[in-house]
Amino acid sequence: MPVSALDAELEWNSPMYQLAVAQLDRTAERMRLDANLWTRLRSPQRAYVVSFPFRRDDYQTVGTVFGYRVQHLLTMGPTKGGIRYALDVDLGEVTALAMWMTWKCAIVGLPFGGAKGGVRIDPGSLSRRELQRITRRYVSEIVDVIGPERDIPAPDMGTDEQVMAWIMDTYSQQKGYTVPGVVTGKPPELGGSLGRREATGRGVITCAAEACRVLGMSLEGARVVVQGYGQVGSAAAAIAVQHGARVVAVSDVEGGIYAPQGLDLAAVHRWVRENRFLRGFPGADPVTNQELLLLPCEVLIPAAAGTQITAHNADLLQCRILAEGANGPTTLEADAILGARGVFVIPDILANAGGVTVSYFEWVQDLQEDFWDEEKVNERLTRKITRAFRETLERAKKHKVHMRRGAYAVAVSRVAEATALRGVYP
Ligand code: NAD
Repeated sequence: MPVSALDAELEWNSPMYQLAVAQLDRTAERMRLDANLWTRLRSPQRAYVVSFPFRRDDYQTVGTVFGYRVQHLLTMGPTKGGIRYALDVDLGEVTALAMWMTWKCAIVGLPFGGAKGGVRIDPGSLSRRELQRITRRYVSEIVDVIGPERDIPAPDMGTDEQVMAWIMDTYSQQKGYTVPGVVTGKPPELGGSLGRREATGRGVITCAAEACRVLGMSLEGARVVVQGYGQVGSAAAAIAVQHGARVVAVSDVEGGIYAPQGLDLAAVHRWVRENRFLRGFPGADPVTNQELLLLPCEVLIPAAAGTQITAHNADLLQCRILAEGANGPTTLEADAILGARGVFVIPDILANAGGVTVSYFEWVQDLQEDFWDEEKVNERLTRKITRAFRETLERAKKHKVHMRRGAYAVAVSRVAEATALRGVYP
């Protein structure tokens, strides 16, 4: 076991980092991972913290903003991972998210190590012009550490296609030529991949359908509950309906809506476009985010913030399958409770790997300047995620463990093999 007594003193120590490290430790211990590699995998290989001035629209107020970019592991290829805009972003959260990206890429077999970025702001409080200024300045601060061969950002909570377009433009302006491959999740007009927008949600539902198959159930007719109606949650809900499932509840940061007979998602979509939040949607009952997690359903999809399912509510969940669209939605204690109760948990590093998979496709298309149709993207995505699910299941069955441990075993052993082959420099 590597030096854990010092964890509390590490600059990136945080509850989310502790969760990520505890998940790694369980696997490393079981597979008797080399102690040197184990210690290295518990830490970011590179971590950048930047602070920069940010001018508000009134042109008088200038504040200081903190930004982060963490590259967890450079062994597997360039690093890859999203950029999050949220008020509670810190080095610890970004480090945990970067670590999870390493495992996600390894499970799907992508030639990337994990990375993540973040800016500590509330994107909802910014005008569009402010969002653009803050994005461009953040990119200028990290311009030397990103690039198509180095580290390729993507969207995460609080960032979207437009933010990716500004990142691509800022980087390209600084280089003096257009570099579409510096970022993924761009609009298709700028070299973005068709199918990227829905990719994470599609991966979640591909995994949920596989889990149904394992349990001898059908996704058709199943009740689905989704926490977080953003990029991941809204796509997962729509694709679940395409599979014949009934989406009975969805939520956003303000709360949720519940209709046991099933929500009309086209109407929900229109409502959100006009009113921004779900609150007040006619024809459904209001529920809080905590109540939503406890609704009766076959498939529960957390697709918002981390640590939503804890020792306080894990006993009360009524789902048969928990498909983790969000990163780190379940604490270790909750995980043990769900395991004992027989809830089939599809861990985040597998369930939400569809996003980075199509990001990889986008990067490949940008580098080759050859763009695929949506059918090819979706077909390749489904194939890769299905294979990753089945390899994870096989490993889990072989070691008689749950899916999360199976997923970590697959990911960590792939990274360990690659690291051993590269050797120690010098
Ligand atoms: P998003 O910003 O598009 O949407 C987030 C949604 O969650 C919004 O509806 C927001 O109102 C809601 N929300 C925010 N905080 C909440 C809270 N405390 N309680 C309930 N709802 C809350 O973000 P996204 O890109 O859809 O990401 C959602 C989750 O999925 C994150 O954990 C992210 O790390 C993970 N993820 C995203 C991608 C991707 O491709 N975007 C890929 C893999 C994983």
